[in-house]
Amino acid sequence: MNTHQHLVIERVAGQIPRHILAHYPTHLMRANRLTETLGDAELWFKRDDLISFGLGGNKIRGLEVMLAEALALNADYLVTGAGVQSNHVRATAATAAHAGLGCTAVYWGKPPAVMDGNYRLTNMLNAQFHFTGDDDRASVDTHIHQVAANLREQGHRPYKIPRGGACAMGVLGHVLAVFELYQQCLSQGMEPDAIVLAVGSGGTYAGWLLGIRLLKLHWKMLCYTVSREPEEVSRQVADLATQAAALLKLDWTFHKEDVPVLGGFIGQGYGIPSPEAAEAIKQVGRSEGILLDPVYTGKAMAGFLHGLQNRQFEQYKKIVFMHTGGEPAFFAGNGDWLNSGYREMEHG
Ligand SMILES: *Cc1c(COP(=O)(O)O)cnc(C)c1O
Repeated sequence: MNTHQHLVIERVAGQIPRHILAHYPTHLMRANRLTETLGDAELWFKRDDLISFGLGGNKIRGLEVMLAEALALNADYLVTGAGVQSNHVRATAATAAHAGLGCTAVYWGKPPAVMDGNYRLTNMLNAQFHFTGDDDRASVDTHIHQVAANLREQGHRPYKIPRGGACAMGVLGHVLAVFELYQQCLSQGMEPDAIVLAVGSGGTYAGWLLGIRLLKLHWKMLCYTVSREPEEVSRQVADLATQAAALLKLDWTFHKEDVPVLGGFIGQGYGIPSPEAAEAIKQVGRSEGILLDPVYTGKAMAGFLHGLQNRQFEQYKKIVFMHTGGEPAFFAGNGDWLNSGYREMEHG
């Protein structure tokens, strides 16, 4: 590590408040059997799915920073939202429980008939549910403000967390993840040249951009969107990275041109498993014993494997796939999507 990097890590980590919930660093594992089938590229997994709190996943990293701020503000409630199968909402409910705070989960649409997967866990964790009654995902945003306003009227001190956890404070948690991986790579004598990441609401990617720029690394981000169009994601991620830089007192502006996003692997839509993701999940599970999820990492892996096959990534020799979690999705629904007949059954 050069002196610049050493100083940056020390200074920036000291600027970021954090209420640590888990044990770090998460494992960095070489995918031995999968690598054999991938030509020249050597593939590694960074196991944020194994973050040892609340069934893990990347969302815990952002929540550690938000919780520190919420406690400093003397909040007594966390209010957030997304869809009923949200990893972020489940992680927030666990975080609130751990800190002795109330939690309200704002969900789009109407209550589903079956309580399974993340929805079941979030209920068990004692979060209160508020359904917007509107299938538009953006309906969650206004309802989070309304729910928080109602709580305030009742004398509570709610801390609002935007949909999916995408906010500047949360982004800082992912900056720390970049520092963590960098130090881990140094100690394992491994120099990656690319990172693969699944992108939803964009907070995680924003943190990686900012962390990479802070350390002046030459890591290329290969980011697959699983919900929005690439253009919209680039704008959102650039805005979040700019806001997070401002929290660190850096006058840095990120532009959407600085934020490459790979598309084409959303399938039928956010949260709907795709046949390509099912194949990728089986390939990784059966060669490595590593369980990807159908909503995020399975789709990113499908895109990455497709890119490798099409020689898009020949310049990269060592690649780290961020396993950001999401396994509870396996326990939602009947799992039909994993069967090869899925395409015909759902859409034929
Ligand atoms: C939320 C999530 C992501 C994407 O993170 P964003 O910060 O929303 O882009 C990736 N993988 C999993 C499993 C997630 O839950």
